[in-house]
Amino acid sequence: MDCRILKIALDTPLDFIFDYRWQGDISILGEPVAGQLAIVPFGRREIVGVIVEVGNSSDLPQDKLKDVLGIRAQIAPLSAPWVALCRFAADYYHRPLGEVAIPGLPKNLRTLKSTALDRALKKIGKDLAVHDATPAGMTVLNADQQQAADTIAAAEGFAPVLLYGVTGSGKTEVYLQAAVQILMRSAQKEEPAQILILVPEINLTPQLENSVRARFPGVMVATLHSGLAEGERMMHWLAAHHGQARIILGTRLAILASLPHLKLIVIDEEHDPSYKQQEGLRYSARDLAVWRARQLAIPIVLGSATPALETWHHAQSGRYRKLALPARAIKDAVLPKVRLIDMERDKPADGITSTLIAALKLRLEKGEQSLLFLNRRGYAPVINCDACGWVSNCTRCTSFMVLHKPEHRLRCHHCSLELRIPKSCPTCGNVDLQPLGRGTQRIEENLQRLFSQARILRIDADSTRRKGSAQAAFDSVHRGEVDILIGTQMVAKGHDFKNLTLVGILNPDTALFSHDYRASERLFAQLMQVAGRAGRAAQKENGSASEVLIQTRYPQHPLYAAVIGHDYDSFAAVLLEERRHAALPPFVYQALLRAEAKELQSALEFLQLASECIEHPGITMNDPIPMTMTRVANVDRAQLLIESASRPALQAFLTVWIAALRDIKTRARWSLEVDPVDI
Ligand code: ADP
Ligand code: ZN
Ligand code: ZN
Repeated sequence: MDCRILKIALDTPLDFIFDYRWQGDISILGEPVAGQLAIVPFGRREIVGVIVEVGNSSDLPQDKLKDVLGIRAQIAPLSAPWVALCRFAADYYHRPLGEVAIPGLPKNLRTLKSTALDRALKKIGKDLAVHDATPAGMTVLNADQQQAADTIAAAEGFAPVLLYGVTGSGKTEVYLQAAVQILMRSAQKEEPAQILILVPEINLTPQLENSVRARFPGVMVATLHSGLAEGERMMHWLAAHHGQARIILGTRLAILASLPHLKLIVIDEEHDPSYKQQEGLRYSARDLAVWRARQLAIPIVLGSATPALETWHHAQSGRYRKLALPARAIKDAVLPKVRLIDMERDKPADGITSTLIAALKLRLEKGEQSLLFLNRRGYAPVINCDACGWVSNCTRCTSFMVLHKPEHRLRCHHCSLELRIPKSCPTCGNVDLQPLGRGTQRIEENLQRLFSQARILRIDADSTRRKGSAQAAFDSVHRGEVDILIGTQMVAKGHDFKNLTLVGILNPDTALFSHDYRASERLFAQLMQVAGRAGRAAQKENGSASEVLIQTRYPQHPLYAAVIGHDYDSFAAVLLEERRHAALPPFVYQALLRAEAKELQSALEFLQLASECIEHPGITMNDPIPMTMTRVANVDRAQLLIESASRPALQAFLTVWIAALRDIKTRARWSLEVDPVDI
């Protein structure tokens, strides 16, 4: 028997790497190595960890150490660059290494019998034999696309590229043809290559997966997203980790996948907020992707019609290379004409103006599809009593209970509290309770009344709860079984609806006056995205030009002028100038300390102590304030924003600060977010 001390990263709330003893026969089992997965006892559980170091000594007495239960030696060790990526993310976001490294690993690896694992590996291994990167059915690229694909494929070393292409300009085709070149070149050199493509929405993966599989019949494709069953997830993860999968499609979490032969990263719709994880390890998949590309010295493509201002700033300053696709790819498909409907003049009955109704009618007569976009699900955001002023507040949150009519429920979208719709006012007994405002369910109801012959479909988080139902809904739109689609941001992104020629945008004004400095950037991107669903195919012979109608009370607002002009460039220039002036990102770097407690006071007190606990030259400490939505699920929340003109200075400060924060005695729970996006 030989004995080794293994330092193992575990996913525990503690910022620790734990020492374990390994006692095995090296002549049979081989020497344990860093990067291998080990199963260890932790408390009463058995969990998987990653060996980060193999040695002979520990700071703890040997007899205090627990024994490793087993090492998954059939699985190749995780590579040093992968461990480095996790270490970087852990350091940068100031979270435990195990929290970065472990959650992405398939859970099955812990419970699976060794023989079952061997079988899985054998199954994946067989597919290796059929690897052939020769593409099928290549689209002929236009000149801009060709130049972009060639430039990406020819890039050497770290090469960040912004693919700035209007909606429908054929960015996907550029990614795929750059991928073809890279895979073919590697095949010639008999080197494996892997391409990672990230999309913002899980619902966009099937569309992309179909294109990729059709294009690369001889290449193994893996998908990584939260919708996979455990067994599938393990197979895909192993295929990526052992290098058999050459193209990997996924959502943000795939950025932490083990991809030992990674040669190209693509982030589609790179501006999308969903690349930012909003709980736990609050990482930006886009930022980690750029780091990963630099570390591996490979190209990375950030694709968007409305890049994040951070990205745009880098492209303007020359740090990122900008490749533009200024026109739609399909011959005779043109960007839709955008018009505003002034709601002061054309007063909507039930949320839809007469102009929009007429436009919908016209499309129905022509047999073309329409999309109504309203980023608010449910029937009405609140119900109230006219007699006494009662409103359906959530008892546990600073928010309203939303009326969900088909489900006969009031629901809080923040704490998931559900109640039956009261028959009468809980305060005065009035039976005439009124819904205020409109959500997608109410618009759907109106549409059914207005267009009783039309096939109307609503797509939002409520209508797609069942596994597979979102896919079925999107498929039916693609098959032309829907005349009018009503949906939230779920329908706004990325989908290539071919027969859709009218987009109506119902209530975008609320975001115009938000206190969040990112609101206009987001709104603009969202409007351009959803507008971009219209007119993606050539106009039909008897058809009319595609158009986008925006219902607004502020037709003079400059944001709408930019949307009408499809003018991202000028709008971005104005926003960046405002940010520079106001010293906001990307011109400063921020971190946000959040605290939550049963009593707001405890949270604020903790933040006050935090702001005073150490010296902070070069760092701006703002005042602790309650969060806009102060209470969620009976917990009060407050925040403290800190800023610096220098990223390294901010990082250095955070390292010292976190240690000091741990010494503060408090009942508040706190967490730190680096580069926060929702402040
Ligand atoms: P984007 O992601 O830029 O919005 P897509 O990649 O979805 O655009 O492409 C829009 C449409 O144009 C798709 O139907 C695609 O098949 C088609 N397309 C892309 N490139 C070409 C091309 N060179 N010739 C003809 N059609 C193309
Ligand atoms: Zn009442
Ligand atoms: Zn609630």
